[in-house]
Amino acid sequence: KQVEGIMAGYTPMIQQYLTVKADYQDAFLFFRLGDFYEMFFDDAIKASQELEITLTSREGGTEERIPMCGVPYHSAPNYIEQLISKGYKVAICEQMEDAKQTKGMVRREVVQLITPGTVMDGKSLTDKENNYIASISYFDDQTYGFAYTDLSTGESKVTQLSANFDEVLNEIAVLSTKEVVVASSFDAELQRKMRERDVLAISFEDNSSIEMQFSHQLDNLNQDKLKQTAARLFHYLYRSQKRSLDHLQPVTTYQIHQYMKIDYYSKRNLELIETIRSKGKKGSLLWLLDETMTAMGGRMLKTWIDRPLLSRDEIVHRQTIVEVLMNKYFERQELREKLTEVYDLERLAGRVAFGNVNARDLVQLKRSLLQIPYLKQILRGMEHEVVKQIADSLDPCEEVTDLLEQAIVDNPPLSLKEGNIICDGYNDQLDQYRYASRNGKTWIAQLEREEREKTGIKSLKVGFNRVFGYYIEVTRANLHLLTEGQYERKQTLTNAERFITPALKEKEALILEAEDKCGELEYELFTEIREIVKEHIPRLQAAAKAVSELDVLQCFAQVSEERRYVKPKFSTEGKVVIKEGRHPVVEKVLNAQEYVANDCFMDTDREILLITGPNMSGKSTYMRQVALTAILAQIGCYVPADEAVLPIFDQVFTRIGAADDLISGQSTFMVEMLEARNALTNATQNSLILFDEIGRGTSTYDGMALAQAIIEYIHKHIGAKTLFSTHYHELTVLDNQLEKLKNIHVSAIEHNGKLVFLHKIKEGPTDKSYGIHVAQLAELPKELIHRANEILSALEKPNVQPVAVNNPVKLKEHPAQLSFFDEPKEPKKQELSSKEKKVLDKMKEIDLLDITPLQAINLLYELQKKL
Ligand code: ADP
Repeated sequence: KQVEGIMAGYTPMIQQYLTVKADYQDAFLFFRLGDFYEMFFDDAIKASQELEITLTSREGGTEERIPMCGVPYHSAPNYIEQLISKGYKVAICEQMEDAKQTKGMVRREVVQLITPGTVMDGKSLTDKENNYIASISYFDDQTYGFAYTDLSTGESKVTQLSANFDEVLNEIAVLSTKEVVVASSFDAELQRKMRERDVLAISFEDNSSIEMQFSHQLDNLNQDKLKQTAARLFHYLYRSQKRSLDHLQPVTTYQIHQYMKIDYYSKRNLELIETIRSKGKKGSLLWLLDETMTAMGGRMLKTWIDRPLLSRDEIVHRQTIVEVLMNKYFERQELREKLTEVYDLERLAGRVAFGNVNARDLVQLKRSLLQIPYLKQILRGMEHEVVKQIADSLDPCEEVTDLLEQAIVDNPPLSLKEGNIICDGYNDQLDQYRYASRNGKTWIAQLEREEREKTGIKSLKVGFNRVFGYYIEVTRANLHLLTEGQYERKQTLTNAERFITPALKEKEALILEAEDKCGELEYELFTEIREIVKEHIPRLQAAAKAVSELDVLQCFAQVSEERRYVKPKFSTEGKVVIKEGRHPVVEKVLNAQEYVANDCFMDTDREILLITGPNMSGKSTYMRQVALTAILAQIGCYVPADEAVLPIFDQVFTRIGAADDLISGQSTFMVEMLEARNALTNATQNSLILFDEIGRGTSTYDGMALAQAIIEYIHKHIGAKTLFSTHYHELTVLDNQLEKLKNIHVSAIEHNGKLVFLHKIKEGPTDKSYGIHVAQLAELPKELIHRANEILSALEKPNVQPVAVNNPVKLKEHPAQLSFFDEPKEPKKQELSSKEKKVLDKMKEIDLLDITPLQAINLLYELQKKL
């Protein structure tokens, strides 16, 4: 009723608009009117701003004019893309009937909802990146279900995550998910957190029932929770895309514990996929490695880097293939050449299912598949059992190539409605129509010749236009040469007259009918062919996957050979031996001669390496180099070293400076502590921890105390392989007390009073703090440097030493560290507030001997919040 009230007064067209719009409140409604998509009301105002197009208005039946703006339908994709990339959704509302043949209003319906996570074409789909859309379900037992799919490739996966939402955020970040689908009741705070991780759109879907409709995709999931999570996603996709989702592959489960765990911050810090500063790919590990030849391979490489393996067998399997490919230089180049001919099979298959494939796509599909026999041949030629197995498993999908070879011409037009798509000889009926049409055209050429001879008019010609069809044209000067009565006048131009004859019209009818029918039949045949190809989609997807894998493996071989990497061996005793190791990216950027290679040795007696050395000497480069080496090894690639033995690390944690986390509003130091906590609570003895200058974010004593306590904690409770860099020179004495800690340093020499970095890692602590030298290097005023030296020597006298490990901290003896706890000299006279009392009570309860410094700082933080 209410709606009717609102509607009253509007024209029928606006009423129709409002009815449709009611279902798409959160999207721009592109309402088709003839050759335009129009937007009205608020949509129009907002779109005119976002797209910078003119805002106009139109009559709509009421007194006020209705705001309106529009875009021509042929340029719509461009505009849609702009809106999508800003996180908006666009509902496409089409005319469902031919306006010419309908009386009254044309029926209009939304045919598709385009969203950031469901774009199928255009620039928003980057070749070498997946476009994932995910769904999350929250269950009573405090676990999260997490499913994701890439509509353009059909890949779908689901997993169960713990109650710790960070795990969910981590997956979202790893997958660069642009859109997430949740129940409408989903926690608003968590939605905000997702947006912080660059999720453009959060969409709601309350239906998560497991229906028959998706049985093909959901059948192999054995847990209802997983099914429901995936079903939520599928319901949403189905509702928004309004078409078959047959190409979505059966959903498979994965566990995050199957892969080396590297949290979001660590991935950023290690610059695996993009660099921190420029947020671009250049300078990242992905950038260094990407020698893939296909878009699919590029996407798979990114996935592999995001998910290094834990299974030794799987890693060794990849290594074995890389090794063979590395040794066969010429074959590999041939392979790479053939791979460049392979288009995006995976996305082409997606388009087939989605129904937006055109004839050119099918030709690309065929050309790609036709490379597979060559790939097989090259692989077989390498004469290696494992590689031969890949060759055997590659499916050239001959049924598809045969069909496309026979059916689709080599250079079809983009449009499906203009004909010239289907090959001669593919269909009898089509051949007959074509014969009729071609025959008719020959007849017309013949007629022109005959008429010229008969009349003696050399300039006579037979032409065609849409209004009159075929005609005979004679210039005015020659009109007298025509025999009266044989030609019917049809049109007069300034210089010429156009005529028709009965015979000409008879042929014309035949030709036009044949052409019309050709067009229709070609379209029909095309859809038939598309349906046949559709049946082969699982095979196409399998082939796509196999080719992508091969592409990534050849890429590893290519990079490993070019950059002189070695095959790492894996140790079970937790041994790390890296000889002459290099940081893969810095080495490439610098230039191989300038890079100083360094060794790294660690084992069960040498778990923590405390790295000292002046700023800018290469401490953090060295630490990253070890982590990147481990990651490269576990994705199956060779590593930048002369020799490498590594354990299989289950997790990598980093706390490396500079990763300021401004968006979340937390102080840098708090972020530092949170990242430290993350490592300390989750790391195992099979993990790798990199702590760069931890504790730097606070005052010296605080920082040093924390740094020492963290080291002790790792030493005592975790036993993870740890690289710890510090500028607290005082900490270097810890190697006397902690048996598994060793000092190393990056060497630098003084030359003419200036500091020269050697970037060489050596055993033992640095003998000096070089801060002032660096300041000198930076050309700070001489007077200032001089004064700093004075202060330094004054400070060095009392010689602050760290607290011995085995000595429990006696509080009162260290006023500098513990000023927080100092009792006021004069007892306060004021009454304490209840809040303050509570905090005091809480403090009294603390058993100071049973608490780690980290817990202490966390506690303090809590207490402070209470006041
Ligand atoms: P720190 O962490 O000690 O402050 P960095 O690791 O940031 O120093 O290194 C500073 C710079 O030194 C780097 O940008 C890099 O260009 C150079 N560098 C580091 N390690 C090496 C090396 N092994 N060989 C050559 N140059 C290096």
